[in-house]
Amino acid sequence: MSESLDLREQLYNDRQSGPADRIQLPREAVTRLWGLMIDLDPDILKPNPWFPPAETPEAFHTGIAPALERHHILRYAEIRFTGQGLHAIVWFVEPVDLMTAADQQHWNAIHEVLASTVPSDSAAPTLIGLTRPIGSTNSKTGGVVRTLKAGTPISASALEEWVQEVATKPFETIGLILFGATRISPCPYCNRSDSYLELSSDAGTCYGACGSVQLKRLFEPFVKVEEIDSTKSKSRKAATRTKKTGRKNRSTGRSKPKSRRRKRS
Ligand SMILES: [Zn+2]
Repeated sequence: MSESLDLREQLYNDRQSGPADRIQLPREAVTRLWGLMIDLDPDILKPNPWFPPAETPEAFHTGIAPALERHHILRYAEIRFTGQGLHAIVWFVEPVDLMTAADQQHWNAIHEVLASTVPSDSAAPTLIGLTRPIGSTNSKTGGVVRTLKAGTPISASALEEWVQEVATKPFETIGLILFGATRISPCPYCNRSDSYLELSSDAGTCYGACGSVQLKRLFEPFVKVEEIDSTKSKSRKAATRTKKTGRKNRSTGRSKPKSRRRKRS
């Protein structure tokens, strides 16, 4: 069934499925947005109790489900096994029409912020990322794409409002999703037995060895060292960007480290 091998599915425009090289569009060509995809890749994660990698998609999903349930947006996402990792797909009740370049930049920025709220693959493109259609086969693994959890569509405005909330208190909002508490003992950054970490709006405070833990370090307990640089730049950029509210002067695209492995999904 070679025709079902390695198909991709748009979350934009006409929601076409087909080979990636036929349906992939540049950001400038995205005029209607049906949903946003977050690439949850267990390969970038190091062992940790809050967002743990796992061998099977079911075990991975079960392990991260509590964190996703604490997430005001991703708790509504469809969770799709891609044959390799998981895609969390936030579907909109009504598609968003992107009438101007400013609209495209605005929604690209929203997607970047959403991606920065969980340990996700920072190499995954925003706005134009493709998922894989249900029932198709991932030729790299032989895995068949399937839904692990059905999604509930949300309003696009609910996502916009939540992104503003993240901007006002990024460390606290994201930290609470990931750690499940505002006080974590021992501190996940130094792991000293007598330490603890308290979340505040812009940073964490370690009563142990670390002192202040800045936003750029937020994902250190979750993501492998070689992935940290890109994660840092992602969360820092996203936080900086969302503080500048409105639709003006947003840059598109994310800087990517030169040596990133090629994106696979
Ligand atoms: Zn510490």
